[in-house]
Parts: sequence; structure tokens; C-alpha cells
Amino acid sequence: MINIKEQAKSLNDYAVKIRRELHAHPEIAFDLPFTESVVIRELESMGIKNIVKGIGGGHGVYADIKGGKPGQCLAIRSDMDALPIKEETGLEFASQNGCMHACGHDAHVAMLLTCAKILSQPEVQKEICGTVRLIFQPSEEPANGAAVMVKDGALNGVDKIIGMHTGNLWAGLKAGQIGWRVGAFMASTTTFDIALSGKSAHGATPHLAVDTITMAAQIINQLQTVISREISPFDPKVLTIGRIDGGTAHNIVAEACRLRGMIRCFSKENSDFMKQRIIEISEGVAKSMRGECKVEFSSDLPPVINDKDLTLKMRDIINEELGSEFACEIATPTTGAEDFSEYTKTVPGAFFYHCSTFGDGRDMPHHNSRFMVNEEVLWTGAAALAAFALHWQ
Ligand SMILES: [Zn+2]
Ligand SMILES: [Zn+2]
Repeated sequence: MINIKEQAKSLNDYAVKIRRELHAHPEIAFDLPFTESVVIRELESMGIKNIVKGIGGGHGVYADIKGGKPGQCLAIRSDMDALPIKEETGLEFASQNGCMHACGHDAHVAMLLTCAKILSQPEVQKEICGTVRLIFQPSEEPANGAAVMVKDGALNGVDKIIGMHTGNLWAGLKAGQIGWRVGAFMASTTTFDIALSGKSAHGATPHLAVDTITMAAQIINQLQTVISREISPFDPKVLTIGRIDGGTAHNIVAEACRLRGMIRCFSKENSDFMKQRIIEISEGVAKSMRGECKVEFSSDLPPVINDKDLTLKMRDIINEELGSEFACEIATPTTGAEDFSEYTKTVPGAFFYHCSTFGDGRDMPHHNSRFMVNEEVLWTGAAALAAFALHWQ
């Protein structure tokens, strides 16, 4: 009888060691040579063969643990990248290079490597049905790493996929608990860019100009009516304009103005509808004010919609292997986004939340310069992933 819970607990020191090594050397987006080298070093030290490296923009890795019994292939995905934030945690292993693991992706790598350490033991490996594929993905923060990993074959031969995000993302859970939710879990995200053009003139003679600043003001107000008046109030969605660039001086009517923002929602229908309305409203307002407008969209990421069967299986496996106090249903999705949804375009998948808070003043939001992960509970994430890999079929 393999006791995953006890094994994972006894490997918490290992998870902490790996996490601290990565935390002290954060790397950004696709540029992850050190992180990749740690992943490969550890996988090789476990005797794991079939390591595919240097993919996904240069430093992505995937590796297979082949089980002793027939079955399907389950992928488990960890992201690896940090953020361009100057760390202010004061931790002894704090980063010194101006970048920071302020989202917990260092802990994700540590938990997946710990899971691999459990699964790659000969007595465990022979009990695995099918194959477990470990995916170490770059560039989750810019939300463009998953698509490149998929393009480079990370899902070839994969039947299902799971992933997990640690940290302080949902309120109400205790450290070490795994949050699960069937269906909508994380939002889609689409970035938009509205470029307005008009005609400049002296600020004292606005009638001789076509003013893109007043145009922008109208558009900003009217776009919010898409949220408040055109989509059901029971359907969560967000439209945020985060940046305006326009004008040159107080006495010149602005010839050009640019608005940049994003939309978040939980269905392709709503996403498509909002995109269409952003174009219609922006172009309509610009035209009505004698100006011109060009709308562009980028970083279009679908929502994370969790497969019911896989999600409930994880709940049951945690209840069975770790204890029912470790599984917690999450009541509402988050408007945060995740490029894990790029994988679930291809195969069914489920994404989970690993709570690693302290329950005191040390808990900071993600992407904060004082964000910290409670290392004492890394083992529960590794245990849930390993137990799932062993028992899901
Ligand atoms: Zn993040
Ligand atoms: Zn993250």
C-alpha cells in the first residue's frame, strides 16, 4: 500500500529547497535558462528518461513517467516564470536580480518535481496506469507560453490534463487545502487597443478641430453600458480601460488618442459579443464626432472551464488519500485568467487552487513585492497531484 500523504510530507523539505533555489534566481517570460537547468537536473536525478527540453520558445520542458500498467496519458502542468518586480519580502533567499517570483510559480515547479519524485519510485511507477507527462511551461504571466508548448508537441499523445495554482487567490480556504470547482473557474481575457484620430487646432478654437479627447471620454462611458445594459447581470464580466495616451499640451486640441484595456468573461459568446460592441461603439462615437477609429484585439485567451469528471475525481481522491479536510469547494470563479485554457482547447482538463496563505499579516496579493508562499504546505499540492496521477484511472 503506497501512502502518498506520508511520502509527500516527508518530501516537504525537498520542495522547500527547490522552491528557494528558484526563488533566489527568478527569470522572466521565455528566458528561463537557469530554471530549465534546475528542472532537468532534478528529473535526471530521479532517473526519468524521455525528457524533451529546449521547446516552447527555448526553455520549456516535458518529460514522461511511463507506468507499469496500461492506460491513458495524463499531463500535469506547472508554469515556471517570474515577474519584473523588485522583491521586498526581506526573506533570506530573496531575489537580488530585480525580478521576483511574486505569483508562486517557483512553488509550482517545486510541487511538480516533488510529485515526480514520488511517482518515479519503482514501486509507485509500476502501479501507474498509462503515462504521466510532466509539463514545465515558460511565460504564463504574459499568457503566451502555453500556446507555444502545445504547438511544440507538449500535448501529443496526452488524453487529459490537470494543473494547480498556489497562493492567495480565493478567500475562505485554509493553508494546505485544495480548492476545486466544476465548470467556470477562471475568466477569459482579451486586450483591446482603440486608436482615435482627429484634427488638431489651437485650444482656443476647438470648432476648427476634431477633438479625440472628448471622443475618448464618450467612448469610455459608453463602453461600460455593454456591461451594465447589454449582458445579463447574472453573467460575470469585466471591461477595464487601464491606459489613455492622448494630446501634447494644454492649449492644443489632441489630434490622436489611444485607449487600451481588457475584457474578462466566462464564455466565447460573451467575449465575441463584447468585442463586436467595442468596435461598433468606438467606430460609431468616432464617426458621430467627425473622427476616425481603429480597434485591435490581442492576447485572446479562453476561460478555464473545468471538466466535471476530472474535478470530482480530484475531490474524491483527496478525500480518500489526504483526508476530507484537504478538499474544499470554491463557490465562485475568479476574473483572473490563466493560459492553462490553451491546453483545454485540445484535451479535457481541470485546474485547481492550492491555498498557501499564512492567515496573518504576511498574506499579500499576487504580484505584490511582498508576496509570500507558506512553504509548510507545499507537500499537500504535491500529494494531490501525485495521488491523482496514481488513482484517476
Ligand atoms: Zn501571476
Ligand atoms: Zn500565476
